[in-house]
Amino acid sequence: MAKFSKNSMVLCFLVAIVFVISSASASTRLKKFDHPTKGDGTLNFLVIGDWGRRGTYNQSHVARQMERVGEKLDIDFVLSTGDNFYDNGLTGIHDSNFVESFTNIYTAKSLQKQWYSVLGNHDYRGDVEAQLSPYLRKIDSRWVCLRSFVVNAEIAEIFMVDTTPFEEKYFTTPKDHIYDWRGVLPRQAYMANVLKELEKALSESTAKWKIVLGHHAIRSAGHHGDTQILVDRFLPILRKYDVDFYMNGHDHCLEHISDTESPLQFLVSGAGSKAWRGDTKGINRDDVHFFHDGQGFMSVELTPTEAEIKYYDVFGSVRHRWNRSKLLLHSAM
Ligand SMILES: [Zn+2]
Repeated sequence: MAKFSKNSMVLCFLVAIVFVISSASASTRLKKFDHPTKGDGTLNFLVIGDWGRRGTYNQSHVARQMERVGEKLDIDFVLSTGDNFYDNGLTGIHDSNFVESFTNIYTAKSLQKQWYSVLGNHDYRGDVEAQLSPYLRKIDSRWVCLRSFVVNAEIAEIFMVDTTPFEEKYFTTPKDHIYDWRGVLPRQAYMANVLKELEKALSESTAKWKIVLGHHAIRSAGHHGDTQILVDRFLPILRKYDVDFYMNGHDHCLEHISDTESPLQFLVSGAGSKAWRGDTKGINRDDVHFFHDGQGFMSVELTPTEAEIKYYDVFGSVRHRWNRSKLLLHSAM
């Protein structure tokens, strides 16, 4: 069991209340978590993906570097881009993989913050509803995982979206894998609803920074490459509502890619454990600014007008840094 400060317990309690209240609201709206920030107009957080392997494949080493950076930045929370538990998600709410890959790995004081997570394709191979169960918060109160939801952190709103059902191949050619599609079928209606809810939430957002996060890439130079259905169905919405960043995992690497038609930046953080695939066929693309074929994670530091993104490798070294003011970002286009 994780140890908590009094403040983090109070925070978790408040988030739980917000969760209950927003659960009762209309079903056509994404659930929204109001995350109180430090009150100084800044927001700092870490982004990690593709991680839960009971500490193996350098997961524990990445965790140690997250501890150090999390402390230095006094982070507000952690975002997970999915594929939280390998190889096949959780078998149920009592699966020891939850404690062995999450609670017992990210033990540092600086990481005792809320972890907001989406599901990845591997998470759909287990008991998909286990990771979504509020019961897990009794084991480790940091854990918040829903299919799609919004984190309202004052200067930024983060729109967490469930992208796995958009990949048709998991339905048509599942190979030896058994997916748990409870709550997703019929697929077309589910996808239409995700897009409708996302568009509604984006249209109502007044946040300075709009961030959309899913498991699968829109743009990636890594093994899986671009996800065409997300290019077709998500990208126009993200451009229309001036989304600043799209963050994802799935490819086990770190990437920074720019949209060619808008200020949108694609930030890939899927390097929480197993990496070094050696599959970098797309890295010479003009839109790719950074590609790291190894373990690591990303930090995001926001003020109302400035954003700084940093990518760290397994040794904690900053491998890529990107800084832009909101004014420049939009006036440059
Ligand atoms: Zn994946």
